[in-house]
This record gives sequence, C-alpha cells and structure tokens, in this order.
Amino acid sequence: MSFQAQARAVADRLRTATRAAALSGAGMSVESGLPTFRSGSRALWRNRDPMTLATPEAFARDPALVWEWYRERLRAHGAATPNPGHLALAELERRIATFTLITQNVDGLHLRAGSRDVIELHGDVRTSRCASCATRVPTPLDGELPPRCACGGPLRPNVVWFGEPLPPGAYERAWEAAAGSEVFIVAGTSAVVFPAAGLVQVAREAGAFVVEINPDETPATSSCDVSMRAASGAFLPLVVELL
Ligand code: NAD
Ligand code: ZN
Repeated sequence: MSFQAQARAVADRLRTATRAAALSGAGMSVESGLPTFRSGSRALWRNRDPMTLATPEAFARDPALVWEWYRERLRAHGAATPNPGHLALAELERRIATFTLITQNVDGLHLRAGSRDVIELHGDVRTSRCASCATRVPTPLDGELPPRCACGGPLRPNVVWFGEPLPPGAYERAWEAAAGSEVFIVAGTSAVVFPAAGLVQVAREAGAFVVEINPDETPATSSCDVSMRAASGAFLPLVVELL
C-alpha cells in the first residue's frame, strides 16, 4: 500500500473511533530538532551515553554533571517548537471524543502543541523536585549546580530515571487509555523501555487497531496492524488531512 493509502486506512479507522490513544517517544521531536537517545551521531552527549546519565546512581555520583546535561536539554527544549506531528496529534484530540496522549518525552512539546489529555509517563524537565522534602519548583535555568531547595536539599529534575517508578497513577491511567482505545498510535519510540513499551501489547490484546510510525522497525512492529516506515511529522498531518 502506498503512503497515501496507508494514511487513508488509518484516517478511516479514526473517523469512526470514539476512543483513541497514542504513545510517543523521542522520535516524535526529531523534526523539532531534538535528538533521540539511541540513534544517530547526536545520541551521545559530550561522548557519554545518556543511558549512563539518566540514573539515580549517576546523580548521586556527580549531580553537577547530570544537571549540566538536563540544563542543556531544557535550553534546547525552549528553543524548539512543536512540529507538524505534534500539531496533528493535538488536532486528533479535538476531533475524537476521547484521545489520550501518553508520552515518554520530557520536552513538553505535546502540551505546547495544544494537546491537553497528556500523560507524561517519564515526568518533565520543566519542573524539579527536592531530593530531601519533595517540594516541586520550576527548574532554575542558571545558578549553582545542583540547585538547592529552600530547605537546603539538592533539587533534581522531575524525570523518571532508569530503575525508578513512574509518577503515581501515571501507568494506571495510561493502561486504561490503551486498553480502552479503538485505535492506538505508536509514534517515534524504539519500544524497548518498559513498562511504556508494554502498552502496545495492552492495546492490541484489548482489540485496538494499532498503528506504528517510525523510520525503523522496532520490537513493537510485529504487534501492529499498520507499521509506517515514515517520519511522524510527515505521516500524522496527512492522516489528519484525510480524516
Ligand atoms: P529512543 O531514542 O529510544 O527511540 C527513538 C525512536 O524514534 C527510534 O526508534 C527512531 O527510529 C525513531 N525516529 C527517529 N526519527 C523519527 C521521526 N522523524 N519520526 C518518527 N520516529 C522517528 O526514544 P524513546 O523510545 O522515547 O526512548 C524511551 C525512553 O527511554 C525515553 O523516553 C526515556 O525515558 C528513556 N531514556 C531516557 C533517558 C533520559 O534522559 N532520562 C536516556 C535514555 C533513554
Ligand atoms: Zn526541600
């Protein structure tokens, strides 16, 4: 089937759906100029694998280094703007009775694109929380590292690191959205980080029509009804146009 025909097939499914959901990952923001974690030469940060920075152990060992990485990312998020893929998902929320967007991204671009029913499964970098008293504050863009809470404790980015639990209730809400959806869109994720990746199977087992959009094949591909080897910023706007 051609690109256009696939987009039409997805649009046909969405047109009659009253409940749909999407799971997004770093690939969703590539067309906004932000790097993914695993692919391409930009995946490394100062020659380090981000996987070794996104852990509680790394923060305990060298909080300033981990903070420098997040500050750089926060600045990049601020300089980036939502791309046509983000805007298309926001439009789907307006057109479909219930459309929940589950994202692994911490860049806030879905919210800035206008999506409202958003579950930020891995937290966000806009806010930080105190490692001692758990108070939440907007992430300070400059000043000493690690930044300090009013209580004197070190602030940490309000994100989920490897080995940490998801924000309270986030997975439960995501599970419900996946299990209740007639159409489930999987966009820009390598589908290797659990429990997020497991939501594809949850949707499939509940009978959803599952659509993947990714330039590469992933472990989720075989669980999808349609798998588009495409950029989300190209395919999703076409789906909306054909809706
Ligand atoms: P990923 O980098 O693992 O995968 C990105 C995917 O996007 C790839 O499969 C790639 O083929 C695809 N892609 C590239 N360009 C695209 C485009 N234009 N359109 C659509 N898809 C495109 O990112 P992920 O799947 O989001 O990773 C899962 C989670 O791993 C992350 O959310 C994050 O929580 C975690 N992780 C976190 C850190 C951290 O900083 N906290 C570091 C590493 C991994
Ligand atoms: Zn505190």
